[in-house]
Amino acid sequence: MSQNYDDNNIFARILRGEIPAFKVYEDEQTLAFMDIMPQIRGHVLVIPKEAAVTVFELSAEASLACMQTVQKVGKAIVKALDAPGITLFQQNGAGIGQTVPHAHFHLLPCSVFALKGH
Ligand code: 5GP
Repeated sequence: MSQNYDDNNIFARILRGEIPAFKVYEDEQTLAFMDIMPQIRGHVLVIPKEAAVTVFELSAEASLACMQTVQKVGKAIVKALDAPGITLFQQNGAGIGQTVPHAHFHLLPCSVFALKGH
């Protein structure tokens, strides 16, 4: 577990099944689920089951598992929505806008420049 990891953050609670999430994929090391406040239709989050605040604390094994899930789920989103592609977006640090302190990857079936705030 990474230092300063808050075991009660919202994604840790989703992993423990304490609060619901619309899951789209799960394996031993990762979980993918719909973002509760989607930036666009099809906005999915991929998280490691390993306790890490940012990608800097993730083990090599968990990093690889996350990328493999990003590949699987990203391809599935493109197919399901006939999307032109996927933006992979990821924040590390509350100071630059990370709001949930458990490492996560945003999968967005649009250009990043089409999102709110751009
Ligand atoms: P961040 O701002 O940390 O990069 O992204 C956190 C994301 O988690 C946001 O897009 C936000 O909508 C999403 N989120 C926050 N709380 C919940 C929740 O309880 N359930 C789900 N499915 N997504 C959440």
